[in-house]
Amino acid sequence: MTDAVTDRRAELAANLAAVRERMSAAARAVGRSPDELTLVAVTKTFPASDVALLAELGVTDVGENRAQEAAAKHAVAGSPPRWHFVGTLQRNKAALVASFADVVHSVDRAELAHALDRATATLDRPPLEVLVQVSLDGEPGRGGARPDIAADLADLVAAAGHLSLRGVMAIAPLDGDPERAFATLAEAAARIRARHPDATWISAGMSGDLEAAVTAGATHVRIGTALLGRRPPPVG
Ligand SMILES: *Cc1c(COP(=O)(O)O)cnc(C)c1O
Repeated sequence: MTDAVTDRRAELAANLAAVRERMSAAARAVGRSPDELTLVAVTKTFPASDVALLAELGVTDVGENRAQEAAAKHAVAGSPPRWHFVGTLQRNKAALVASFADVVHSVDRAELAHALDRATATLDRPPLEVLVQVSLDGEPGRGGARPDIAADLADLVAAAGHLSLRGVMAIAPLDGDPERAFATLAEAAARIRARHPDATWISAGMSGDLEAAVTAGATHVRIGTALLGRRPPPVG
């Protein structure tokens, strides 16, 4: 390994240890087992070489938010790890995402569920695992279905032949109390789980609010900055 690769590996290893410690401490503080939590490393904007290093360090799940970037990285890094698509998704990218993703966290409308179902049907692959994204702030640009319609969307996903409903996902509001927002998500999750007992996942919590999410019952945290470092500002 070159020095640069060795340095990056050491940096990622240290960050990973710190993130895992935060997850464990947050779980233990509310009497949960750290084993209930899955870390999804959000590698957007970082190279496929970082995905490979994280996988060597034991990370089993990576997340991306742009279809083309994710597909290109998947082509280089392969699977495992398991690939999670966490970004807002246009219907015309559904086929591309179904070609590499194991899990899509951001299904927030019926037409997108149908497009993913149809795309998955044409591929030689297991059902696509799906989380219904719940909007906690009503901001259309950030994606998510209103909490009161999330359960109907979950019914539709569960009925689709090539999708497997796993639970819910949300992003905390930009301002406001994350604890309160994640409690709203937990209520939506419970309503859906009452109808679909296998829909046990709650994807919530990012670098800044993972403790609040774990306190509210998150099973999957999506961590970018705290693991990989600061991202360059988005272009375009
Ligand atoms: C970028 C992103 C994350 C990770 O955010 P950090 O604050 O960098 O940890 C999590 N979830 C989604 C949907 C994202 O787009």
